[in-house]
Amino acid sequence: MRVILAQPRGFCAGVVRAIDTVEHALRRHGTPVYVRHEIVHNKHVVDGLKAQGAVFVEELAEVPTDAVAIFSAHGVSRAVETEARARGLRAIDATCPLVTKVHEQGRRYAAKGYALILIGHAGHPEVTGTLGQIPAPVTLVQTEADVDTLVLDADTPLAYITQTTLSVDDTRGIIDALQRRFPQIVGPDTRDICYATQNRQTAVRELSQQVDVVLVVGAQNSSNSQRLREIAAQAGVRSYLIAQGSELKPDWVRDAGAVGVTAGASAPETMVQDVVAALRRLAEVELLTLPGREEHVVFRLPAELAAEAAAAEVATP
Ligand code: SF4
Repeated sequence: MRVILAQPRGFCAGVVRAIDTVEHALRRHGTPVYVRHEIVHNKHVVDGLKAQGAVFVEELAEVPTDAVAIFSAHGVSRAVETEARARGLRAIDATCPLVTKVHEQGRRYAAKGYALILIGHAGHPEVTGTLGQIPAPVTLVQTEADVDTLVLDADTPLAYITQTTLSVDDTRGIIDALQRRFPQIVGPDTRDICYATQNRQTAVRELSQQVDVVLVVGAQNSSNSQRLREIAAQAGVRSYLIAQGSELKPDWVRDAGAVGVTAGASAPETMVQDVVAALRRLAEVELLTLPGREEHVVFRLPAELAAEAAAAEVATP
């Protein structure tokens, strides 16, 4: 069996930064540090941080006064930031800078008087955070059908922003529908929203041309992993989203000459290798990696921690 790994796959710079943030906070402040929401949508990552002393909570009310509280990579609403200040918590914001960029885009449009539309999935923590970061009404649009139900004057100044982890193809249909109904609408270039989402989607599309089955390594609640599986399916290839090798069903790959493997932005490479090991238990494997775009994006730690990290680097011979 040929097993072909997509390139790039797995951790993005925002996820690396979020995990580094928790680890630095643990070293600096000792245990426990509290993390609001799963720092990234991956159980292995969360379990690893729990073992080091991080405590995961859903609401700040669960965090004791004076404790360190870290906001996840998905971002939080202004109400959560205000609550942290009011409670005297030592907040560290691990929101991915690309999510922060969407918040800033939204605030800029709102300040110029645009009515705002957010393209995203209701209930996803990034969407909840973004809706709560913009001091103006924002209408959530999830599907092309939602566009028909919008009640807005045709000449209302209108702008859209989008969730970072949607596929460019998903948003394209909705944006086209918006532009047909509201020709004056403005918005960012969706290809610029998140390099990691774009690169992983391009890679899985190429991978799908060369394999019979695609295995996406990631969590069921990981939005970008779900999109990777959908893209492979849209390319006509059977595709499955699994967290680890033990979830692989032999029937999925029994007749496959070539199996593609990729991973969502929150899935560690150890889990990719765990899936490859599970494939090796089923067949003799020839392992290849597709040539693909190299990524060199690195985000600085949150300001609360960056100075300490720089000092530690200087002190290390
Ligand atoms: Fe940031 Fe993109 Fe990674 Fe999300 S997928 S954490 S927006 S780099």
